[in-house]
Amino acid sequence: MSIAVYPGSFDPVTFGHLDIIQRGAKVFDHVIVAVLHNPNKNPLFTVEERIALIRDVIKNMPNVTVDSFHGLLVDYMRKMNANAIIKGLRAVSDFEYELQMASINRKLNDEVETFFMMTNNKYSFLSSSIVKEVAKYGAPVSDLVPDVVQVALRSKFRVT
Ligand code: ADP
Repeated sequence: MSIAVYPGSFDPVTFGHLDIIQRGAKVFDHVIVAVLHNPNKNPLFTVEERIALIRDVIKNMPNVTVDSFHGLLVDYMRKMNANAIIKGLRAVSDFEYELQMASINRKLNDEVETFFMMTNNKYSFLSSSIVKEVAKYGAPVSDLVPDVVQVALRSKFRVT
């Protein structure tokens, strides 16, 4: 059985992430969306809130689950018996960092393979940071995130 992990901050989950999840779920038997606990970042949503939002958007996808992890991705992969990492690429600027990450992960565990998926053109500009910036000023984000995320953003920024 092919088990893939799709790691990231997902602060919050966007249509760009969702597109990668849906496409990944067609290729792998099981996709685990893994929310990283990153003490160096100052997130808008707690890990629990991010998991709850993802759980809501994947509720009709039988072979997708959500989880969180600390520390090294390769250790988490071993624990979950997963052999593939899914990453999305938006622009050339994503490439250099992702190449570095894929190389170090392979060095740490050569059983693990990283699979890159090109962004859907519609979402090549889309990141969680952009969404937060737009939502902060009360501008509509309905084309960028699922409804449940839109509601959560409104309540975080207290915009009605
Ligand atoms: P960001 O905060 O930049 O959205 P995340 O850490 O949440 O980043 O991203 C997790 C993964 O999803 C990364 O592999 C990232 O490249 C990918 N990703 C994020 N947004 C998109 C998008 N719009 N299209 C394709 N892949 C994306």
